[in-house]
Amino acid sequence: MLDKWQNEWSEGVTGRDVDNLIPRVKMRMESWRREEIIFFTGHGPFHTYLHRFNLITSEYCSCGGIGSKLHYATECPLTKSWHLRKPLSHFIPVWLRQVAGNKQTRNKIYNIVRFILANSQLFSPDA
Ligand SMILES: [Zn+2]
Repeated sequence: MLDKWQNEWSEGVTGRDVDNLIPRVKMRMESWRREEIIFFTGHGPFHTYLHRFNLITSEYCSCGGIGSKLHYATECPLTKSWHLRKPLSHFIPVWLRQVAGNKQTRNKIYNIVRFILANSQLFSPDA
């Protein structure tokens, strides 16, 4: 059963950000907090994600940048307290693995997502 799951996971087209971080399927859940799962899956309060599903009218952040998870983690002035160094675009998969594998950077991600969830009106370009 695990082999079948592994084949479907390896050859799938969805969840590729997570496949980059967890290439082998297993029965044990990764010990990530909710906020970390939200960031690494990208399924959360990020404007690019919400806009993709027509849940908001613009993918822009109130600061004028495009509201991707990378924007909030590396360049948005509203999350500056927890910023990580911005990777070059072709190093993003490597960067994500490094961030996910380091407790200190995962704590920053945790704080960023908590802050966005608690202050979503601050990030709205209509505010
Ligand atoms: Zn911003």
